[in-house]
Amino acid sequence: MQFIDLAAQYRHLESNIQQRINTVLNHGQYILGPEVSELEERLGEYVGVRHSITCGNGTDALQLCLMALGIGPGDAVFCPTFTFFASAEVIGLAGATPVFVDIDPATYNLCPSSLEHAIEQVETNGDLKPKAIIAVDLFGLPADYPAIEGLAKKHQLTVIEDAAQGFGGQIGERRAGSFGHVATTSFFPAKPLGCYGDGGAVFTNDDELAAHLRSLRVHGKGSDKYDNVRIGLNSRLDTLQAAILLEKLAALPQELQRRNEVASAYHEAFAELFEIPLVPNGMQSSWAQYTLRSTARDQFMLKLKDKGIPSVVYYAKCMHQQTVFAENDTLTSLSNAEAAAQQVFSLPMHPYLQPADVENVCAALLSA
Ligand SMILES: *Cc1c(COP(=O)(O)O)cnc(C)c1O
Repeated sequence: MQFIDLAAQYRHLESNIQQRINTVLNHGQYILGPEVSELEERLGEYVGVRHSITCGNGTDALQLCLMALGIGPGDAVFCPTFTFFASAEVIGLAGATPVFVDIDPATYNLCPSSLEHAIEQVETNGDLKPKAIIAVDLFGLPADYPAIEGLAKKHQLTVIEDAAQGFGGQIGERRAGSFGHVATTSFFPAKPLGCYGDGGAVFTNDDELAAHLRSLRVHGKGSDKYDNVRIGLNSRLDTLQAAILLEKLAALPQELQRRNEVASAYHEAFAELFEIPLVPNGMQSSWAQYTLRSTARDQFMLKLKDKGIPSVVYYAKCMHQQTVFAENDTLTSLSNAEAAAQQVFSLPMHPYLQPADVENVCAALLSA
């Protein structure tokens, strides 16, 4: 059994993907070819935003946002301490200071009251300027944007949604990628919407910011291709990856339905035994991960391994526990995140998991 079975997905989409790839090989426009604009249009429609700007990967997508927003030295950017490293890394890369915030133990997402406490601490200390919040849709569940956007307004901060895992999730009718002032996603192969290499995108309704981002992803180009008006990056999505993503995006709604069916089967099997992942009323998860927690996690994972079932710990170390951030001041308690890092483990989750596989996972865990 695979943790995420990309080969099974390929078997399902093979002829469509092959056709798309052949079209690109025939027209030969490998950089910013027609599939890139077509994908940007489809992504914008799906997410429900005016501008979608594809780029090299999900980390670049975040970095491009911080560059376009002019965030740098002396600025404080708030981010959850329980996330993938890239969410915090880009803050340091921009020369700004990451301020780590605790999570809500029920959703694993940024805790609004911890966020407010951290913002007030920075305001009181006065040595950094509070600038932005990078909120992460961890494991596929959108963060609490109604609360986060309220705090951002009150304290005049910009919200960046890191929807690398959340793409496909929803709050009410609003899709992940449409929250905050600007949002990012990753098309790393294992994400809910992945390509066959690296890829990413930025989403926004801000026309000026979108133009700025389009310039930054091609060396800070001006309206004349050979006149560079700012320092940028070389961060474009390959046409071949865009072609593959067009087929994968078309299959996403059905895949999300299947992920939800797997999650429901897991819920039913584990509700008595474990704390199952909470999806608050009105929200939908894209189930990037299905995560359980237990103080006996190692025993459960060993039992699964005995039966040939893979399980993975996302994440064993919080951001404030990383060597590179060891000197950073912690301004608020991060105990919920620290406990989660000790207890969480994620189960096989993908749209092509067979009912028999799901039964095997359930039986193996229940017998432990
Ligand atoms: C994967 C991921 C990223 C980075 O995406 P890449 O495409 O691998 O650069 C950023 N944030 C989160 C939460 C992620 O899971």
